[in-house]
Amino acid sequence: MADPIKVVVSGAAGRMGEAACGAVEGAEDMELVGRADPALDTSVNDVLAGADVMVDFTTPDAAPANVFDAIEAGVHAVVGSTGFDLDELKATVLRADSKANCFIAPNFAIGAVLMMQAAKLIAPHMPEAEIVELHHDRKVDAPSGTAKLTAKLIREAGGNVHEPVHSVRLPGLVAHQEVIFGGEGQTLSIRHDSIDRASFMPGVLLAVRKVADLPERFVVGLEELL
Ligand code: NAP
Repeated sequence: MADPIKVVVSGAAGRMGEAACGAVEGAEDMELVGRADPALDTSVNDVLAGADVMVDFTTPDAAPANVFDAIEAGVHAVVGSTGFDLDELKATVLRADSKANCFIAPNFAIGAVLMMQAAKLIAPHMPEAEIVELHHDRKVDAPSGTAKLTAKLIREAGGNVHEPVHSVRLPGLVAHQEVIFGGEGQTLSIRHDSIDRASFMPGVLLAVRKVADLPERFVVGLEELL
């Protein structure tokens, strides 16, 4: 049997980070070798030595620096954090003198990826669209990374996403999104609900397994791995 993939998780004391640590610990082909988080008094740099992959679920401010540190250390990065400029991070990753790859998914849930694919299919036929994204009230960025990516995909497919994207923040929610298309005398709505953070974990584990073999050093979107 091949050696287990050695994984560190940054944001390990957060909601997504804790779930990611549990998922990695439960995967037979992986070993959790480090947890970084201010609450654990441990930085990403403290745990990178000897790791193969860093999984980052932190904040818009922290994630780019964590990715940079991982890439510089030759550790592949799997990033779920949202709210920062992807183009800037891409330029930073590609500039680094490193062979390590970076994979980013604004949404690791398969249902959300399928919602985006469906939106791409609908857009050429019913181009007028509105996006409503709904998240728990401690989410720091708005609109969500999923909403931004959905809007980009719809526009690339010829659709017209109305501004602004609607962001709802309430206790009780996890991560939800509705895309509403309107045409002559009809509307078509597609909706995805993550009602548990477990919904993201198969996608995270898939990315950990595939990040070393990406066709390019910076890849965005779970659909690229399916
Ligand atoms: P959270 O509970 O606030 O967790 C973030 C954790 O990161 C906190 O414990 C925070 O510590 C820690 N942190 C801050 N700076 C750090 C650093 N430099 N190094 C290491 N850890 C650091 O947030 P969450 O709900 O887990 O969400 C985390 C991110 O994932 C957000 O950007 C969210 O939008 C995103 N998300 C993505 C997906 C997806 O499928 N891609 C799904 C859900 C959420 P402090 O509290 O001390 O600052």
